[in-house]
Amino acid sequence: MLNMQGRPTHVGEVATGERQTFTRNRALQMEEPLIFETGRFDVTGVDIDEPEKFTPRLGAHARKSGIGLPGLTEPETMRHYVRLSQKNYAIDAGLYPLGSCTMKHNPRLNEKMARLPGLGDIHPLQPQSTVQGALELIETMAHWLMVLTGMPAIAMSPKAGAHGEACGMMAIKAAIAARGEGATRNVVLVPDSAHGTNPATAALIGYHVRAIPAREDGTVSAEAVRDALGPDVAAIMLTNPNTCGLFEKEIVEIARAVHEAGGYFYCDGANFNAIVGKVRPGDLGIDAMHINLHKTFSTPHGGGGPGAGPVVLSQALAPFAPVPFVRRDGEKLAFVEHAEGTQSFGRMTAFHGQMGMFVRALTYAMSHGSDGLRQASEDAVLNANYIRACLADVMSQPFGDRPCMHEALFDDRWLKDSGITTLDFAKAMIDEGYHPMTMYFPLVVHGAMLIEPTESESKASLDLFIMTLRDLAMSVRDGDVARFSGAPYFAPRRRLDETRAARQPVLKWVKPVTVAEAAE
Ligand SMILES: *Cc1c(COP(=O)(O)O)cnc(C)c1O
Repeated sequence: MLNMQGRPTHVGEVATGERQTFTRNRALQMEEPLIFETGRFDVTGVDIDEPEKFTPRLGAHARKSGIGLPGLTEPETMRHYVRLSQKNYAIDAGLYPLGSCTMKHNPRLNEKMARLPGLGDIHPLQPQSTVQGALELIETMAHWLMVLTGMPAIAMSPKAGAHGEACGMMAIKAAIAARGEGATRNVVLVPDSAHGTNPATAALIGYHVRAIPAREDGTVSAEAVRDALGPDVAAIMLTNPNTCGLFEKEIVEIARAVHEAGGYFYCDGANFNAIVGKVRPGDLGIDAMHINLHKTFSTPHGGGGPGAGPVVLSQALAPFAPVPFVRRDGEKLAFVEHAEGTQSFGRMTAFHGQMGMFVRALTYAMSHGSDGLRQASEDAVLNANYIRACLADVMSQPFGDRPCMHEALFDDRWLKDSGITTLDFAKAMIDEGYHPMTMYFPLVVHGAMLIEPTESESKASLDLFIMTLRDLAMSVRDGDVARFSGAPYFAPRRRLDETRAARQPVLKWVKPVTVAEAAE
C-alpha cells in the first residue's frame, strides 16, 4: 500500500492518519481535552449553600465578576484526572530502562508501612516525646546507610540527589572556610562525563568548575586529576560507578591525590545500586556522598513523588553537617534543630527531610536484609550485562565489548548512514510500549543510549525487551526508515516540536474566539 508521498505505508499511519474515529479516541486510548475546554461555569462537583449576605471589606479590590474556574461534576472530574494519569508511563506499567535513574519496582510492602497511622498521621511539630518511634526510624535508616557505605556520619535531611550534592558541597565549603582557606580554594574538578547536576551544584555553591577530560576507556585517570590539582582546588566531584556504567578503577589513587593537595572528595552516589554490599565508598577515601533513596532504595520517583538524598560524611566533614539531626541520649532520642555553638553550616530544609521516603527505604532495606541488598546489586549488574551481551552484535558500544556495571551504554555508530538517529530509535521504542532509555547522555558518547534495567526485571521481561530492540535494529538494517522517522505512530501525541515547545512555551490557556463572537 502506498500513501500520498508514495512510500510504503507503515501500519501506524493507517491506524492514526488515514482512519479517524468519530470521538478521536482509539480503543481505550482516550482523548482528553483541557479542563478549561470541557468545564462549565454553572456546574460544580460539590453542593455549597449560597453564602449569607455580608458586606465585603475589600473596597475597590472586591471581585466584580465570577472567578471563571471551570466546573465539572464529580464523575467528570474523576474521569478527567484518571484519563490524564493513564497517559503517564510508569514502572508499574512496564520496563522503564532510563539509564542513571534506577527505575526499579517499588514494593507494595513499602507503601503499606508508610501508611501505618503511627507513621503516616504524625506531624513534624508534635512534641518529640510523642514521636520517639519516628525518630528511631530515622536513626535506624541512618545506621543502615552508614554501615552500607562505611562512613561515620550522615545528614538525612536533603530531599533529592541534587539537594544532597548541595549539602555535601556546603559541608566542604564550611570545612575549607574553617581552615582559613575559603578565599583561595575556589575550584571544583568535575569530569566531562558527570551528570549535569554536579557542575551546576559546584557553580551554585560559588565554585569555578574545572573539567577533567574522560579517557579513551570511559574512566577518569588519576594522572588527569593530578594535572588539574593545585592549591586552588576545593574538591573533586566524581561519580562511581560512573555515568558510562563503568567502575572508576583509579578511584583510590584519585582520592589520595585530592587529599594530598588539600581538597575533599565528593562522590555522586546516584549509581550506588551497582555496588551495595560489594564496595563500601568509605573504603575508597571519599568525604561525602549522596544516596538517592528513590533510586537505590526503591522509593517512587519520576513523576511519582518526592525523593530523598541523605549524604554520608567522613570524620573530617562530620562537624559541619547540617541540622536537624537525631541524637540519642540513653533511651531517649532528641531532635537537634539548632546550629548555634556548633560548626554546622546550618539548615537546608524545614523539619527533618522526607519521612515517608525514610519509611519506604527502611522497609526495603530490612525486608531484603544485608544479603538481599547485595544480591539486588549483583542482579542489577547481571541484568545490564545480559542486555549488553544480547545486543552487542547489532548495536555498537563506545568502550568495546566488555562488562559494564548496572547500565549498558551504546553509541550511534551502528546507525551511521541509516538516516535514523538515536532520537528516532527512542521514538520507535515508544510505539513498542517501552519508555526509551536515557539518550544523548553521558555527553562524552556520541548519540548515547544508556540502558538500566535494574534487578526487578525477570528474564522473560528482559528477553522481550531485547527481542524488541533486535527487531528495531533489523528494521534499521533493512532500511525501513519510515518505522522510525514518523514514530511514535501509536502514542496519544505524535512527534512534537520539542525545540519550539522549549523556546516558546504556551503556559496559559486562552479561550478561542468562536465564529459567532468573531462575527460581532
Ligand atoms: C539522578 C542523578 C542525580 C540527581 O539526583 P536527583 O535525585 O534527581 O536530584 C545526580 N547524579 C546522577 C549520576 C544521577 O543519576
